[in-house]
Amino acid sequence: MRFPLHITTDTVGHQVRNALKGKRRYPFVLMLEPLYTCNLACIGCAIERHTGKLEDRLSLDQCFKAIEACGAPQISICGGEPTIYPELEELVEGMIARKRHIFLCTNGLLLDRNVYGKIEPNKRLTINVHLDGLRDTHDLVCDRHGVYEKAIEMIKEGKRLGYHVWTNTTVFRETNIEEVEDLCRQLAELGVDGMLVSPGYHYASIDREIFLTRDEIHKKFKRVLEMSKTYRLTSTPMYLEFAAGLREYKCSPWSTVTYTPLGWKGPCYLIGEKYFETWEDFWKGVDWDYWESRQDHRCANCKMHSGFEASVVRELPKSPRDMTRMAAWNFFG
Ligand code: SF4
Ligand code: SF4
Repeated sequence: MRFPLHITTDTVGHQVRNALKGKRRYPFVLMLEPLYTCNLACIGCAIERHTGKLEDRLSLDQCFKAIEACGAPQISICGGEPTIYPELEELVEGMIARKRHIFLCTNGLLLDRNVYGKIEPNKRLTINVHLDGLRDTHDLVCDRHGVYEKAIEMIKEGKRLGYHVWTNTTVFRETNIEEVEDLCRQLAELGVDGMLVSPGYHYASIDREIFLTRDEIHKKFKRVLEMSKTYRLTSTPMYLEFAAGLREYKCSPWSTVTYTPLGWKGPCYLIGEKYFETWEDFWKGVDWDYWESRQDHRCANCKMHSGFEASVVRELPKSPRDMTRMAAWNFFG
């Protein structure tokens, strides 16, 4: 199965409960950024994500209140580098107690020191290691020699210790797709449980020409779509067809909400037009109709999975063929 059964059933249950309440918009995923501190300064990363001070991090209480308020069944702990967060052990324990599914998004450098041996493997916990290419490319993107070697070592160790391990690869303008395929082949040999490959996205706070235009995304993702027939990619086939320019969707920015040391980030993971102190102000304060329509110029090249995977799910009931494909992709992939 592509997604473990307990994640699939919890996610479907969440949809059914919200549908029964008549809700059209609700979060599926919380991107929890407990700190804006990092031990790297990657070239594609938003400046604020790796320049914050540790003392400005969210408290455990703030994190748990955010988790309860939004109700999303899946939580990506990102940042910053979450393995630096001093209260990570208690945070993960508290999320498991609240029956959430956790994706710990990490560069991998401190997994042996701060995670392995401290946080036990759990069916609700997935370690998601960032890898943007083979050795030379990844070290270049991370702006430090040796990051690739360490990440691979930590993936092997995570698998040996019994963790559920995914990888996360961003495709930039300079990315050679053959290299991504080589990377997927090597990661498959290491036994990783899933690989997320997504287009590089233009944060409002970055001004570098490393991001893809819409046409470039389509071209590169036609190849990724082909690769998905061989490798265990975690993006749905419909999302990959969307990224390849073969179908269109409205955005669902409300499906993946982001809580940071600055507050709730609106409207979406990429655009921090306004930060809100409370969940209620955020949920009522963002003009979801406007952002769903993608009419804002900043949405022009966006194919961000966090905006569109939920759109795939939302549109599924309209197409029995897509529903069958989705079920086959998850259960037999
Ligand atoms: S490891 Fe992640 S948070 Fe840190 S600089 Fe790189 S992309 Fe940004
Ligand atoms: S398309 Fe959606 S996810 Fe992308 S920038 Fe616009 S609102 Fe954000």
